[in-house]
Amino acid sequence: EAARFDVIIIGAGAAGLHCAWQAAARGLKVIVIDHAKQAGKKILISGGGRCNFTNMYASPENYLSNNPHFCKSALSRYTQWDFIALVEKHGIAYHEKTLGQLFCDHSAKDIVRMLLDECAQYGARVQLRTEVTAVSHAANVYSVTTSQGTLHAPELVVACGGLSMPKLGATPLGYQLAEQFGHRILPVRAGLVPFTLHEQTKQAYSELSGLALDVVASNARASFKEAMLFTHRGLSGPAMLQLSSYWQPGEAFTVDLLPGSDALHELQQLRHDKPKQGLKTALQSWFPKRFALTLAVQHGWPEKNLADCSNELLAQVAEQLHAWHVQPNGTEGYRTAEVTLGGVDTDQLSSKTMASKLQTGLYFIGEVVDVTGWLGGYNFQWAWASAHACAEALGDQ
Ligand code: FAD
Repeated sequence: EAARFDVIIIGAGAAGLHCAWQAAARGLKVIVIDHAKQAGKKILISGGGRCNFTNMYASPENYLSNNPHFCKSALSRYTQWDFIALVEKHGIAYHEKTLGQLFCDHSAKDIVRMLLDECAQYGARVQLRTEVTAVSHAANVYSVTTSQGTLHAPELVVACGGLSMPKLGATPLGYQLAEQFGHRILPVRAGLVPFTLHEQTKQAYSELSGLALDVVASNARASFKEAMLFTHRGLSGPAMLQLSSYWQPGEAFTVDLLPGSDALHELQQLRHDKPKQGLKTALQSWFPKRFALTLAVQHGWPEKNLADCSNELLAQVAEQLHAWHVQPNGTEGYRTAEVTLGGVDTDQLSSKTMASKLQTGLYFIGEVVDVTGWLGGYNFQWAWASAHACAEALGDQ
């Protein structure tokens, strides 16, 4: 009898824990299971250990999905302000870092503790170190066979996240369960992930490792004005992570290295003011020397004083500064990706409840669903909002 519950939730991460306490608060007997030794591991390492738990400007436009409308209902019924109110109720100090991104002042541990406290208050059981070996459904009851025995419940919530950071315990279980019950999985790939460069370019830029520039990175689908960071493997920083979610293998993109300025006009002005200055030296009025020199070598810009540079040459340099062409080799993949794009096709889920349209009593929440947020607290907001929608529906059963 002890193994009978109203709801079994697989995955004690952001979505699973938030769903668990809210379902328990609606009077349900809830258990959350996880194979990890610790609950909310990704929350703990998120935002550099301070957890960027939501974004003040979160709205459906900040999400990628095959169906961009799917996320609207859940996001509008549980907003960033609802989560902020919870954080405030627990007395957790937070601040806006940039662009509406809210972080804990002290530690991401505050968020995990908050969720576990809520679970404890409403009696939702959190059981760790529990491996799932099989799930079956018969006579309207789900049976989840685990390393700690078999659990039964009429409702099953799949909250086991995506594939990013396998070292933290990510597995494909969520996708496997979806497929087991007839759900379509849209192709998955790493998102919010640094780009790697081809060997030759990598060598050319390797000395720049650690250098950050404010840029606008763009392709045909998206454009982000944020920082770009050179690493010893390639290109990272928020602008690159954001663009990676809109990038397909083989594609190139452009980076405006001087956003908001008119490089041609400024070069012509410099030519007028300091005609004896070398072109490469002139570039150093905008960039650190090592970057200016690398750019010049890469583009084959000549060793000339500004006075000897034609308008045509300056126009070419300006064009290359405003649309620096990057042809990545690939990305660092799931090893360092913050999220997984794609996943459980939203066409077969209810946007109101996150319930399966194919199978009674089955729900998918959080990152396992084909809804992926931008960098900046949006992914947690989706986890909170989808968990809330599901918990409300569970309570209505
Ligand atoms: P998760 O939080 O990943 O939880 C899934 C749970 O399922 C895990 O506890 C896992 O152990 C468990 N599980 C998996 N497989 C099994 C299995 N086979 N059996 C049992 N249990 C299983 N988002 C933001 O909004 N802001 C940030 O600051 C931020 N920083 C991030 C930093 C890093 C380094 C990473 C990797 C991600 C970051 N994200 C951030 C993204 C965010 O962490 C995820 O989108 C979010 O955690 C998804 O919530 P979830 O509950 O769906 O999945």
